[in-house]
Amino acid sequence: MKLWICSKCGHEVYAKEKPQPIKWTDGHVCYFHNPADEFEKKIKEKKQYNVYYQKGPRKGQPKTLTDRVIRFLTEGMKKKELPSKNRYRKFTGSGPGSFYWIGKNGAMRAGPNASNSVSLTDKAHANMKLWERENGLS
Ligand SMILES: [Zn+2]
Repeated sequence: MKLWICSKCGHEVYAKEKPQPIKWTDGHVCYFHNPADEFEKKIKEKKQYNVYYQKGPRKGQPKTLTDRVIRFLTEGMKKKELPSKNRYRKFTGSGPGSFYWIGKNGAMRAGPNASNSVSLTDKAHANMKLWERENGLS
């Protein structure tokens, strides 16, 4: 037997299955629910909610590593994107004539052009993760 309650008037009924609504002479209708069922439902909803957000990036957050690196470059390091003529995305660099180049999977290079540059990927990703953590973005 389960306890069923009308949330409007508090009327209680013990029954195996959910009772049919009861119409009273004053016009009030008791609609019954089981508090334990409601609680379990809420727990389930909460679990689904958590799984949803743990599995992927939060809403509005960058989805790929490249997106994250570019966010770090533009928001964290205040670099500006420049037009690029090759498969790398080009950003203002550490000094005149030097640029940051972003390739596949967030690979980062620094130098006057993409072919004449050094890889900064490992260092950049480490700094990016630190910056994300400090700013509550990860
Ligand atoms: Zn009622």
